[in-house]
Amino acid sequence: MSHKKYIATPSRTKDILSKYHFKFKKSLGQNFLIDVNILENIIHHAGIDQASGVIEIGPGIGALTEQLAIHADKVLAFEIDQRLLPVLKDTLSDYDNVQIIHQDILEANVSEAIQTHFKADQPVHVVANLPYYITTPILMKLLHDNLPVDSLTVMIQKEVAQRMAAEPNSKSYGSLTIAVQYYTEAHVAMTVPKTAFMPQPNVDSSILKLVKRAEPPVQVDDEEAFFALVRASFAQRRKTLRNNLTTYYKDTYDKETISSLLEKADIDGTRRGESLSMAEFANLANVFTRQ
Ligand code: SAM
Repeated sequence: MSHKKYIATPSRTKDILSKYHFKFKKSLGQNFLIDVNILENIIHHAGIDQASGVIEIGPGIGALTEQLAIHADKVLAFEIDQRLLPVLKDTLSDYDNVQIIHQDILEANVSEAIQTHFKADQPVHVVANLPYYITTPILMKLLHDNLPVDSLTVMIQKEVAQRMAAEPNSKSYGSLTIAVQYYTEAHVAMTVPKTAFMPQPNVDSSILKLVKRAEPPVQVDDEEAFFALVRASFAQRRKTLRNNLTTYYKDTYDKETISSLLEKADIDGTRRGESLSMAEFANLANVFTRQ
């Protein structure tokens, strides 16, 4: 076989797009990767090897899928855009370890798909260049579904990656940080320039790696109540914790009760939400739940 260029190059991508008269749909977050070095970095950070099963979200024309097919045992990719199915069939025809599922990832039963398509004891990883318009809903769905995966390595908007991997007392720290870090250990692996994409997005991107935790790092009596309290604590970032909680619980507790519950949890009500660790939020939520 003559040497063929990878899909993730500007010239091959342009050829594929013109062959199929493909027009990008902005509403589907279609920004395709055209830099093989970036893809190799993603695969390296994801810890993919020949034993790995991979779930990909949004294969596009197959830039990342191709590299995953080369480095992993099997790739299962969910793509919402029907127009891409014949394209993928063509661009990935050399790889027999890729399966494309035409489905909205938000509607998919990914756990069932993992059981059906991968070996029972196979390490499975999620790897994706996510559509930016639904990054958070996709990640929160995959985390809530408690998928049997080891890690999730995703290209997302830089600012959102920073929020997911943030430390307390930083501008980026918020309820999204807690929601993500309750399920995973999160870190930003690298930032990626706009020039790696076609078309170029308006925002910078980062590769975020999330490693699933075996157990949550804190014990909470009621997860829903815990996440609700965390969200309430950040409702108005400049307000004190006591004021945010008083507003949120106004139909349930008066100001004095809120103050006494904060005292019981040993937390100064004049602090701001961004100064509380996850352990402090868990303790506070448990005091409220047990009230
Ligand atoms: N993986 C390709 C790459 O890196 O070049 C394309 C990435 S592009 C940022 C996002 C892809 O996700 C597009 O192919 C888009 O059609 C697809 N997509 C958008 N929303 C989706 C959804 N809800 N479920 C599955 N795929 C979706």
